[in-house]
Amino acid sequence: MLSTLASHPCTNRPSLPFPLRLSPPPFVPLSRHRLPLHSCHASPSSLPNSSASLSLSQSNSKPHPPPSPPTTLKIAIIGFGNFGQFLAKYFSQQGHTILAHSRTDYSSIANSLDNTIFFKDPHDLCESHPDVVLLCTSILSAEKVLRSIPIQRLRRSTLFVDVLSVKEFPRSIFLERLPPDFDIICTHPMFGPESGKYGWNGLPFVYEKVRIGDSHERVSRCEAFLNIFKKEGCRMINMSCKEHDEIAAESQFLTHTVGRVLAEMRLKPNPDDSMGYDTLFQLIENTCSDSFELYYGLFMYNKNSTDLLDRIYAAYEEVKKDLRRMVQGILRRRLFGTTGVGELEDPAARCEAFLESFNKEMVDLDENATGVHFVALTIGMILAKLGLKPTSIATKGYETLLKLVEDISSESFDLYIALFMHIKNSNELLDQLDISLAKVRTELYGRLHDILRRQLFDQPGIISNGRTRM
Ligand code: NAP
Repeated sequence: MLSTLASHPCTNRPSLPFPLRLSPPPFVPLSRHRLPLHSCHASPSSLPNSSASLSLSQSNSKPHPPPSPPTTLKIAIIGFGNFGQFLAKYFSQQGHTILAHSRTDYSSIANSLDNTIFFKDPHDLCESHPDVVLLCTSILSAEKVLRSIPIQRLRRSTLFVDVLSVKEFPRSIFLERLPPDFDIICTHPMFGPESGKYGWNGLPFVYEKVRIGDSHERVSRCEAFLNIFKKEGCRMINMSCKEHDEIAAESQFLTHTVGRVLAEMRLKPNPDDSMGYDTLFQLIENTCSDSFELYYGLFMYNKNSTDLLDRIYAAYEEVKKDLRRMVQGILRRRLFGTTGVGELEDPAARCEAFLESFNKEMVDLDENATGVHFVALTIGMILAKLGLKPTSIATKGYETLLKLVEDISSESFDLYIALFMHIKNSNELLDQLDISLAKVRTELYGRLHDILRRQLFDQPGIISNGRTRM
């Protein structure tokens, strides 16, 4: 197949017009197809004997309709890991041809998918002249991988797309590294193999058409690519990379941090969850099925991440302080009687009243369920202190966090105290949360330290433009 694709008579003509809509269906040897002459040598309008110009001369009154957009594309996926394979499944189901390449040999996985071929050598892949090159590698390796693609073997008008979870960074390396004739779209499908496993309907797809040539073919190719996501029902959001990063970088990093901290706590889901915390466990599943590399990328490429980690810590300390102050207030009331403040204004009195009714009603409550409830409320309290705001491009995970904050109503603190008093190991749960938060933070900073050390001492001088190269 490789040789038939590479031996296309057009392959050595870099200045050809974009021939996509005329290309054969996936994986049918080109030699068995009679390609229309203009697919290789000229645009339809420049061919006096082409069927296009004939139809024009036969009917001068009717303008020649623009060619319909291409229906199938030849898409190269560079970085065929978790997310690349997930996208490939959907692309191939829609009839597109996938040319995959990755650091690891994924030939057998490619063989199990329709219309998909794995290229160990990126030169062979580029010589197959994909219509679209989709960069799907980790954020940290993106620049190195982009530099390793032999772009001189591609068609001059190839469309480059990325799906990195941060956007200004790929936009800038594309503009810096790709020749001006290449088209560029920066995208972020805001879902993953877990959150999108039952389909993409209604899920946000953010994109910026960074540079699209104005010829009809280029515009059509861009639309054909975006149509893949439209057809699956994605909510298409045209947004600049800058705006994406301003809105999403923080919310994504926060969502992944909460998911990872909760995972560290090893909470057990309750089979008869009546409190609606199944979404919390989905959040853990969604974020932890993504690689640490991805989480680390969100940390590295969000300039507010270190500050955000500090704010999470500070918010947690404040929640604990509120909790201790309240417990002490209740105890003091018991020891010394009322403080003279009216019952309704005295939070300790209100909490104590709540606690009494709570204790009467909740004697049979499952210990694990109350533990999960208590942790969920603690996270909700922390997030409320951080001042979480809804965004137009929220992932499912971030929506779970917003829901937690929404659930924190004025009575929640009374319930929170009640749970704290009711659960025997609530102090241990708080300690566990402390340890988990510290562990995640240590992992992030440990990694940062490690990379910088390697760059400074193993390969001095490799840091350029302030970017970290992997
Ligand atoms: P990832 O850990 O971010 O990236 C894994 C991919 O990067 C694999 O293809 C891997 O190649 C490649 N890679 C990692 N280090 C490399 C290196 N040093 N040199 C060459 N290749 C390297 O996990 P992912 O979930 O597959 O994400 C891929 C991209 O999609 C990321 O940019 C991510 O931000 C974006 N994204 C992911 C999701 C999601 O939910 N997972 C959603 C939207 C966007 P090998 O497998 O061959 O080693």
